[in-house]
Amino acid sequence: MGIDTENKSKGDICKVLCTDCKHETNHEVLYSLLLHKKEEFEEYSWHEDEYQVVRCLGCNEISFRIIKSDSELQNLETGYYDVAEIIYPRRTKETINGKIYLNLPSTIKTLYNETIDCYNNNILLLCAAGLRSLIEGICQDKESGTVLKDDGTKNISKNLEGKINGLYKKGILTEDYAKVLHEHRYLGNKAVHELSIPSRSELELAIGIIEHILDSIYEIPAKGNKLMHLRKRAGDKT
Ligand SMILES: [Zn+2]
Repeated sequence: MGIDTENKSKGDICKVLCTDCKHETNHEVLYSLLLHKKEEFEEYSWHEDEYQVVRCLGCNEISFRIIKSDSELQNLETGYYDVAEIIYPRRTKETINGKIYLNLPSTIKTLYNETIDCYNNNILLLCAAGLRSLIEGICQDKESGTVLKDDGTKNISKNLEGKINGLYKKGILTEDYAKVLHEHRYLGNKAVHELSIPSRSELELAIGIIEHILDSIYEIPAKGNKLMHLRKRAGDKT
């Protein structure tokens, strides 16, 4: 037999690790649903799941919290029942919140999201491989393997090194950024060819760099175009 109770914990404050604030913060319960189930033939046997929507009081980020308990979990010293807490989206202190990109080609967006998922789930070798594939993806999208030379002939690069240089030669990236991407390439190469697993801090840095590059190649030009469009519509020709 089951009994549902709505909003029993509404307004309660609990401590939850917030991925935006990067530490444990007070969260307010906005909604709760408690499901209490009793075993039919065992009088003292029960199981409870409480589902809560909680909001961080520091940054307003919303999470979903599940608290599980049952009659077997009574702590004999305190008399209270132990509970298991599950928070979604799953998180650790090192969880990275993936950025939301509005102007990425869909394959690059998928690669980026999967790379972040790998990092957050501690799948570090594939995270490094994903970062390398992201650079490949950018080069492919921008066709940086083919660069037109001054004399009109084409210079075609098949390897990633040449393609990164192509990004710079085509004016898509500055020379400094291209240099940074080469460093990035070494990290990916070591992971893919030597199966050497980079550290989380190396990967975190590499993710930050790739985000910067995605911003500068895709997001900022798109925002600039939008701004120009809005100004034209408003009749501002200055
Ligand atoms: Zn927060």
